[in-house]
Amino acid sequence: MLDAHGYEDAVIFGHALAGNLHFQMGDDFSKPGSAEKFDAFSKALSDLVSVQYGGSLKAEHGTGRAIAPFVEAEWGAKAYALMHRIKALFDPEFLLNPGVLLNPDDKIHVKHLKLMPLADELVDLCIECGFCEPACPSHQMTLSPRQRIAVTRERERLRASGEDPARLKRLDDDFQYAGLDTCAACNLCSLRCPVGIETGTMIIGQRGQRRGATARSVAGFAADHRGAVETMMRGGVALADAARSVIPAPAVEAITDTARRLTGDRVPRVSRSLRHGPGAPRAKPSRQDPRQTGFPVPVAQTGRQSIVYFPSCATRMFGAPKKRA
Ligand code: SF4
Ligand code: SF4
Repeated sequence: MLDAHGYEDAVIFGHALAGNLHFQMGDDFSKPGSAEKFDAFSKALSDLVSVQYGGSLKAEHGTGRAIAPFVEAEWGAKAYALMHRIKALFDPEFLLNPGVLLNPDDKIHVKHLKLMPLADELVDLCIECGFCEPACPSHQMTLSPRQRIAVTRERERLRASGEDPARLKRLDDDFQYAGLDTCAACNLCSLRCPVGIETGTMIIGQRGQRRGATARSVAGFAADHRGAVETMMRGGVALADAARSVIPAPAVEAITDTARRLTGDRVPRVSRSLRHGPGAPRAKPSRQDPRQTGFPVPVAQTGRQSIVYFPSCATRMFGAPKKRA
């Protein structure tokens, strides 16, 4: 049936012993005729499973708008009418899951179809399942990875269609903080994603697109002079550290907070618990290390294996607080 309706790349899997089968197929509902194709397939499926074999269209996953028009064929007119009466008794205003389980519209399965326009090849495979959300540090503060992708898709759809420029501008503007600034670009989302999507990598790309020529050249300079920049940053933290030994910490914070306000948040916040870090460790290749690579990292022997410690730039620049602030 899948082949007959043009879903040649569909897959069937499930629990055949229990007579419970799943299938998945993909289609692009933005193409003309795809909704009609799905409509014809759904009707044929309902006839085959419910009418011809007296089976159930849904076994484990509940029902939904894709199945709602076929519930009557499965259960019969009498039982279906009873379901509506029970629903009306408990939910007379149809507030609960409106139109999802029971819906008199026999075309509801091909209405309001969610389109997933191509937006960025890094995330185009996203199925918006939300598995990545619990891993994201900015989820529930601003946007989750899934939401960053959904908003990116909608922005690209609006850009391509020219449908609503005012809405596009609002989304583009609001995405700066909610989508770009508050993403840690940690890619923890990719560890949970069934297709390994790195939302953080997409965000880094989008940040880059919004940078002007000056920002690009400053970033390029910093990338080419990492050692010097790191030393300077560490010096800045050490300076703030030293300032606190002369001026009380609340005053230092008040000064930097005022500077932040005056410069539009361009001056970094100085937390009283921030201390400068130890810098890059000196290379200490072990005598037993046969490679003697000379890498600028400490190499230790545990008796069984060598351990190479690469401290991150954050660990090199920032130290532990002397005491809890
Ligand atoms: S887990 Fe992957 S596929 Fe699912 S919403 Fe997140 S990014 Fe998309
Ligand atoms: S990269 Fe961004 S979206 Fe992904 S988990 Fe980190 S903060 Fe969340």
